[in-house]
Order: sequence, then structure tokens, then C-alpha cells
Amino acid sequence: MNPFDGSSRATGKSRGMKLIFEKHRDGRRGFSYGLSDVSGTKPLAGKYCRATEARLPCLSELDVVRHYTNLSRLNFSVDTNFYPLGSCTMKYNPKFTERIAAFEGFLQLHPLLPQLSGGGMLAQGSLEVLYESEKLLAEITGMSAFTLQPLAGAHGELTGVMLIAAYHKDQGLRRKYIIVPDSSHGTNPSSAAIAGYKVKVIPTGADGYMDLEQYKKQLNNEVAAVMLTCPNTLGIFNPKIKEITDLAHNVGALMYYDGANLNAIMGKCRPGDIGFDVVHLNLHKTFATPHGGGGPGAGPVGVSKKLVEFLPISRIIRRADATFALDYNHPKSIGYIAPFYGNFGVILKAYAYILALGKEGLIKVAEIAVLNANYCQARLKEYYDLPFDKTCMHECVFSASRQAKNGVHALDIAKYLIDQGYHPPTIYFPLIVKEALMIEPTETESKESLDDFIDTMIKIAELAKNNPSVVTQAPLNMPIKRLDEVRAARQPDLRWKP
Ligand SMILES: *Cc1c(COP(=O)(O)O)cnc(C)c1O
Repeated sequence: MNPFDGSSRATGKSRGMKLIFEKHRDGRRGFSYGLSDVSGTKPLAGKYCRATEARLPCLSELDVVRHYTNLSRLNFSVDTNFYPLGSCTMKYNPKFTERIAAFEGFLQLHPLLPQLSGGGMLAQGSLEVLYESEKLLAEITGMSAFTLQPLAGAHGELTGVMLIAAYHKDQGLRRKYIIVPDSSHGTNPSSAAIAGYKVKVIPTGADGYMDLEQYKKQLNNEVAAVMLTCPNTLGIFNPKIKEITDLAHNVGALMYYDGANLNAIMGKCRPGDIGFDVVHLNLHKTFATPHGGGGPGAGPVGVSKKLVEFLPISRIIRRADATFALDYNHPKSIGYIAPFYGNFGVILKAYAYILALGKEGLIKVAEIAVLNANYCQARLKEYYDLPFDKTCMHECVFSASRQAKNGVHALDIAKYLIDQGYHPPTIYFPLIVKEALMIEPTETESKESLDDFIDTMIKIAELAKNNPSVVTQAPLNMPIKRLDEVRAARQPDLRWKP
């Protein structure tokens, strides 16, 4: 069944796709008020009144409701379909965490409630959630302490690199470089650059690992840190990671672990135990908040002992009388990086998720995430080129090079998948793989869903061989067909004109 065919799109394509302005009819109203029966009111003074009417569309209430309901049905979501978007996918987003985040006691709290006296007791529970969340994340990652404030993964990276800079400065050293392998997530070199460092990029060897010889050549006492995306964007975990961290520490550089996709290793290995000094997590990937909607997110940062004193303020403390409070007395802190407490609702959902799953549950998450990705890889590798053929972690990266010889590129495969009711995998990333198709099935999907998707991918491979134009014309069932992508980017037509 194709959930995107016309039958499930209530109003059909032409009418459903009209802009709300095009549905305007002069004088139509969605509401009517009676005349005011309040006496003594005065009309607004002329100088506050518009000279011309606001050009808002006039519609009946039903038209408005249908317009927005039908728009919402154009959304693609994990609630409706499979979403194997590699590197950044929505992982397990259970509904119970949403319900907890909506509890009045949390939802209605004002961020400026006093911490202790009077109304402050109302904030104690939330402060405890933050305090305990830090402790749980520190336990899961093997780090000494956490800040929960960063508002996204990239924001966590920036915070982490600022902590590294503060550490070196405190040592009286100026270090210029941050080393980043070319298989890292794109935000890694960006965060390093924004924090004022020059980036040294290390190429990936034929085995999918960072080239160790090149790494040794680039490593010296001007290097502030080595940032590793783990697993890297090929979905591969580097078995020589201990050697890499030891080499870095030998020259006084710190190790940064991009743990956005912690579902690959959670409960199996801890960044702190293998020598990392800084780690950021994406709660909005691994810990129950959906990623993909543009926020809100949370990118908590954990640090080893030597970096704790530089963490952003405020820090949450538990006092001798078992109450919780915010502590600002950290003279070496890098200061504020976000207002208040970060995205509290996202942190709360992660907290509930971790407690509900427990240690065994979190380990299962990692095991199933890795199993599912390897299952997809094993079933598809006969049909698509697999540039780095080894056990993968939470995602696998194919190349559509074989299909591209027949004119079917990664983009065409993505468009055809949309027509079949799937969110496409990440395409053309990582950059080091030509015609990349990066598939992350996640830990949540059943074998049946995976098989359906894999069968569709196999069908596409066959079409690419025997009937490529079927794929290159897709999508045919969508309200919007192929776009002139260059023109759409250069001359976007976003404004309605009467
Ligand atoms: C998603 C992701 C990021 C960036 O996270 P944002 O919240 O989108 O800023 C960084 N690194 C990796 C490996 C990621 O997958």
C-alpha cells in the first residue's frame, strides 16, 4: 500500500495544494461576533488604526480547518512511515516520554522561580531531574561531569571546543590546530573553526579508518584536540581508538568524542574509559526526542576531571540538606552558553527514557540498532556497491555507482523511495563516498519493516538495470514532482503575489 497515493490525501492534489490566499473570497468569515454589550467603550484613536486593510485571506472556518489539516497530512513522520535517514535519524521516540514532558508541574514552571524559598519548592523537582540526568549521562559515558545546557549537537561541539580552549589557556599554552578526520560529521570542523582553531583534516584509508600514518605526521604540540565522530560517518568504529587517544595525550592534546549517535555503542563501551576528555550527546537522536523537525534539541557535554572547572554556569548542586540549587561560583567557567537550564523538556524526556529502559534496556538499544543496520547491509550488498565492506555499527553506507552507470543516481533512488512511501536515506554524504546512500534503520523497526524497505531497494536496483527511466522520473505520486533543484535554490519562489 502506498500511503501517499491520492486516496489517502483527502482533497486531492489540485484543491489541496492551493495556497490559503488563493482560497480567499471577499467578505467570507470564519467567525462572527455579536455587537458589544459593554458600555462606555471608545473606538481606538485614529492614529492607532491601519490606513488600509491587512491583506489577510477571508475564508470560512471549515476552509481554514481543512487547509491546515491537509497541509499537516503532507508531512512525513516516523508516526506514519519508515525513516532510515542515516547519521541524523529519528531513533526510538516513545510516546510516554511526551506525556511526562507535558505534566503540568513541569510544563507550567517559570524559569525564574526562586530556587528554594516559597515558590522555590516548586522548582526542586525539576532541579532534581537535571541533577540526576547529569549523573546518569556521566555514568553512561564514563565522564566526570556534564553540562546540560547546549541546545543542539553542534552547540555542544562548540561548547566542548571552548572548554578545550579554556583548558589550554589555563595551562598557559596557545594551541592552534584541531585534527578532524575526513569521515567526521560536517559540524566537527565547523565547530572547531568557529571556536577559532585551524582545522587539519586527516584522510580515510581504504579500510575505512583514519589514516594513522598521516595522523602521526600531523600530530604535534600545537594540536589542541582531536575530534572523532564515533562511529564515523561510514558507520565504522575505529578499533585503534586507544592508540589514537594515547598518541594525542602524549603531545598534550585532548580527545573529543562526537557521541551524537550513542545508540551505536551505548552500554557496550564508554568514551571516558577509552581516554576521551570531552563528549557530546544528542538527546534528540539517541534519547527519545525526535530529530529532524528542526528542534528543540539538547546536546549535553560531558568532560573528564581536568575540564570540570571550566564547565558553563550555572552548575546544579545538591546541598547537605538534600535540596538542589544553581551554583554560579566557578571562576574558571567559560560562562553562559544558553539561557536558564537548556531545553528542559528534552532533558526530562531523556531522563524518563533512561529510567524506563534501565541498564539492560539501553544495552539492547545498541545491540538492536547495530543488528538492524548489519541486516540491511548484508541483504543489500549484492545489489549495491559497498565501498567499506565490514561489520558496521548503527548505519551502513552504500554507493549507487553501479546504478549511476545506467543513469540512475543516488538522487533518483531517493525520489523513487519517496514515491514508495519511504523517507530516503541520507544521500551524497559522507562526501568521501561517491553516490553515497547512508542508511540508518534504527533500533525501533521490526524485521518486517526492514524487509519491506530492503525489497524496495532491490526492486530499484533491478529497475536501474532494466528500466532506468521508471526511477529517474520519480516521484510521480507526490503533489510536487521533480524540481529544477538549481533554480529552486537560486531563485526560490516563496512569496504569494496577488
Ligand atoms: C546530528 C549530528 C551532529 C549535529 O547535531 P545537531 O543537533 O543537528 O546540531 C553532530 N555530529 C553527528 C555525528 C551527528 O549525527
